[in-house]
Amino acid sequence: MTLHELINNKKADLRYIDGSASVLDAIKSMHEGKIGSLLIQSEEGKLAGIVTERDILRFCSSRHGDVELVQVADIMTRNPVSAPPDCSNEEAMTLMTERRFRHLPIVEDGKTLGMVSIGDLVKARLQDVTVEVKYLREYLSA
Ligand code: AMP
Repeated sequence: MTLHELINNKKADLRYIDGSASVLDAIKSMHEGKIGSLLIQSEEGKLAGIVTERDILRFCSSRHGDVELVQVADIMTRNPVSAPPDCSNEEAMTLMTERRFRHLPIVEDGKTLGMVSIGDLVKARLQDVTVEVKYLREYLSA
């Protein structure tokens, strides 16, 4: 399965936040959307950054500021790694495991098309494997 198929099946809206929003706004938005990351766009509409639960944890544990005063732009990762829509599930899993992050934006020609989490990839892989096992069992018992 490619990431293109995966984001088409997912149909969830991409969730963005302004870099000038507070860390508290990011926490509220992630909580409301039941998601672990938010994307940040540049003024030109290009993908500029990503902020995840991990960034917020790191910020809170460092205690270098107030979640209401510090901006998302100060804690986000700039220019996140992305993958094209024709990237396979396995390639994306390898990339995320090697680079140690759990979120991957899907970008084509500078346009952000979607986002997958490691959870989405594991779920899709599990479905594929379940179908494979079913057909193998049927084949062996025929
Ligand atoms: P995560 O495991 O996705 O919560 O992210 C762990 C760290 O990697 C955080 O500092 C994120 O901002 C950063 N991160 C998450 N996704 C990406 C990505 N696609 N490219 C670069 N950094 C990322």
